[in-house]
Amino acid sequence: MSDDTIFDKILRREVPSEAVYEDDDVYAFRDIEPQAPTHVLVIPKRKMESFADLADAKDAEVAGLMQGVSRVARELGLEDRGYRVVFNTGPDALQSVAYLHAHILGGRKLSWPPG
Ligand code: AMP
Repeated sequence: MSDDTIFDKILRREVPSEAVYEDDDVYAFRDIEPQAPTHVLVIPKRKMESFADLADAKDAEVAGLMQGVSRVARELGLEDRGYRVVFNTGPDALQSVAYLHAHILGGRKLSWPPG
């Protein structure tokens, strides 16, 4: 069993978070250090450590996560202007929490390429 992370504790409501969306598959909450006017994290309720684990996940789990991300963006009203979805994965990408999470960033023009 992998180590308990801050996101495990958020999901169990042991650490407070600002929820924006929840369904059977995902929980979404505002990032504590927002990098854009809208910055939300989406985590699967069944824990995986990183995006790399999706390669071995069941189709329904992959679908639940990806559809959850898309639905959160829609609920946040980001569809018209657009938004970015980021899965930082592993050390080169500076993943700092070992619990799979999607960043949804929107509400301003985002530069490319990322750093
Ligand atoms: P990453 O660097 O991709 O692993 O992203 C981790 C994200 O989690 C960062 O953007 C942090 O600001 C965010 N974060 C860490 N702790 C919390 C927390 N307690 N509530 C909300 N967001 C958090």
